[in-house]
Amino acid sequence: MAVLDLIQSSAFQRRFFFLAKRFIAGETVAEAMEAVRALNAQGMTATLDFLGEDVTSREEAERTRDAYFELVRAIREHDVDTNVSVKLTAMGLLVDEGFALANLLAVIDAAAPNRDPFVRIDMEGSAVSDATLRVFEQAFARSAAVGPVLQAYLKRTPDDVERMIRLRARVRLCKGAYDEPADIAYKDMPTIRRAYVRCAESLLERGNYPGLATHDVRLIEAIETFAKERGLGRDRFEFQLLYGVRPELQRRLVADGYRVRVYIPYGTHWAGYFYRRVTERKENLVFALRSLLQR
Ligand SMILES: Cc1cc2nc3c(=O)[nH]c(=O)nc-3n(C[C@H](O)[C@H](O)[C@H](O)COP(=O)(O)OP(=O)(O)OC[C@H]3O[C@@H](n4cnc5c(N)ncnc54)[C@H](O)[C@@H]3O)c2cc1C
Repeated sequence: MAVLDLIQSSAFQRRFFFLAKRFIAGETVAEAMEAVRALNAQGMTATLDFLGEDVTSREEAERTRDAYFELVRAIREHDVDTNVSVKLTAMGLLVDEGFALANLLAVIDAAAPNRDPFVRIDMEGSAVSDATLRVFEQAFARSAAVGPVLQAYLKRTPDDVERMIRLRARVRLCKGAYDEPADIAYKDMPTIRRAYVRCAESLLERGNYPGLATHDVRLIEAIETFAKERGLGRDRFEFQLLYGVRPELQRRLVADGYRVRVYIPYGTHWAGYFYRRVTERKENLVFALRSLLQR
């Protein structure tokens, strides 16, 4: 984890932002608005993430909450089609659960007047899965405009899927991006894919407008086939992809009439996000190294 420590230093992040640029819209709200506008023009919606995680001070968590206030206001003023995604550890979950819930509720209230008031809670490492779902359920009792993320690589996820179906909560399903131990998570890709497809089918058939987050064409094709076989309309779910990853696939899905939402991170605290993108795919590491050499 020494590499992560290095890239998390603010001096590194200031000097090397160009490395992360492919995956991050920019450092400011204005750049985030531009990125959303460009995607809206191509028929896609978005979800904006103000970068940051693992905050351990109340002041920093409040700064993150305030950054979301600024963000949801800007979305309204620019009239762009996007909602927001938050990480609870950036909202103070590691400080105190009630404090993170209060910050989350404040963001939900601030986003309420927006065209798309939805607030997505990203799922982080397994150390905070239970707390994240607890906070989600408390917020959901107050507002239906909030939804969790479930990770197909976790063995617990089919149970969580059933619970979210019962609650009528809107779920984003992804494979999972953290390095989890084998007793709680599947480690091999064929098993993770099978787990993903099973959860996706349950959510498609019985869930509430799932967001199916993946760039894996095998999974996308399995979802397309299942939806066609069951006669599920294209307004019953959306595909979600990450900013800068497989833009040609994003465009193909729009051309085929699917709803597509792109997850757009922005801000100066890009290290953790960038680290996950680079370590999960060797193409991304090669891309980052090439950017370094080309300067
Ligand atoms: C919208 C969205 C939100 C997410 N939210 C969360 C979250 O809250 N919590 C969490 O743990 N994880 C989250 N993730 C990350 C997710 O868990 C995976 O780590 C990530 O999406 C990679 O898995 P994949 O399904 O895209 O498949 P992969 O196996 O990574 O990719 C499938 C195929 O896509 C192609 N591909 C992928 N990336 C590239 C690339 N950069 N360049 C070229 N080809 C590429 C390759 O051909 C690859 O074989 C999110 C992902 C998305 C798309």
